[in-house]
Amino acid sequence: METWTEALRRAELVAVGATLVRRGLVRGREGNLSCRLDARTILLTPRGADKGRLAAPDLVRCRLDEPPPAQASSEALAHLAVYRRCPAAQALVHAHPPDLLALAGRGLVPDPGLLDEGLAIVPVIENVPPLPPGSERLAEACADALARAPVAVLRRHGVFCSGADIWQALQRVEVVELLAGIALSETWRGAEI
Ligand SMILES: [Zn+2]
Repeated sequence: METWTEALRRAELVAVGATLVRRGLVRGREGNLSCRLDARTILLTPRGADKGRLAAPDLVRCRLDEPPPAQASSEALAHLAVYRRCPAAQALVHAHPPDLLALAGRGLVPDPGLLDEGLAIVPVIENVPPLPPGSERLAEACADALARAPVAVLRRHGVFCSGADIWQALQRVEVVELLAGIALSETWRGAEI
């Protein structure tokens, strides 16, 4: 039976999915998000779903000690690997923010020191090399990176952010994208980044 807490978590993921689309941090079916339900279970977005129009009942329960169900997100392996490796991670957002992609395409990650907000919210940003989406290798690389930092930039792909809840994970995606935009504008003015 679904508890009141699970109903709340489902509603939060629906709201954050809509926010990601509205703010251009993912487009349509891109990205995925999840949160812990208990010590052995997480709630994850379904494979191929439009994040702007998620339905609470469609979110998929996955167990940390079992293979993900077929209907779970294509990045389910990465989400499960991070939760297994990082006890502090209560929620994860994976997004494809455009300025971050432009910066990461050059092999760069944003400098948190560009903003006080950066230092406070995303003090350490890890850089993950290009690996096949949905693969075990990408899952392990993300888990390694998020064991060291709250943000992992995936070159030519996007970003994974962890949080104490889904709102903090969302905030980290937003701040990383803001930092990337500032870094790009510095580039346009010809400055070093
Ligand atoms: Zn992705």
